Amino acid sequence: MKVHLKQIPPEGLHLEGEEDCLIPELESEGVHCIGPMEYKIDIGVAEGSLWANGSLVQPVELTCVGCLEKFVHDINAPAFAVHTELHGPETVDLSPFMREDILLNLPPHPRCDKEGGRVCKVPHPNAAPSEIKRRPDWSALDKLKLRK
Ligand SMILES: [Zn+2]
Repeated sequence: MKVHLKQIPPEGLHLEGEEDCLIPELESEGVHCIGPMEYKIDIGVAEGSLWANGSLVQPVELTCVGCLEKFVHDINAPAFAVHTELHGPETVDLSPFMREDILLNLPPHPRCDKEGGRVCKVPHPNAAPSEIKRRPDWSALDKLKLRK
């Protein structure tokens, strides 16, 4: 997503729109974009740098690590923020910054019950009854004390 600096007025600019999927290479890892990324950002230029902040949403299809079924999830990047120095060119490409933010908000271990709002067929490992912790066995020690 390229921004033309000349089009940014001194008071800044509000931009809303859609951008093609920025993470196509994650297809091989089971992350499949099912629509364009939506962005709502404010951008401006001040003292030789460009700033931008806003929010991004990328709808994707993920594969649940529990049941291995596909489910739909919106990757939300609610606090997208950029501050970058300008190095001469009249356009700045925000895509790499947006891509990074999408990746940061991508669930590392997607689960259909957590991210997809479904009931997973395979219970979460953390939800399984934890191993009963054995209490330290002091009986042997007590016997020793009694003998004194
Ligand atoms: Zn699942």
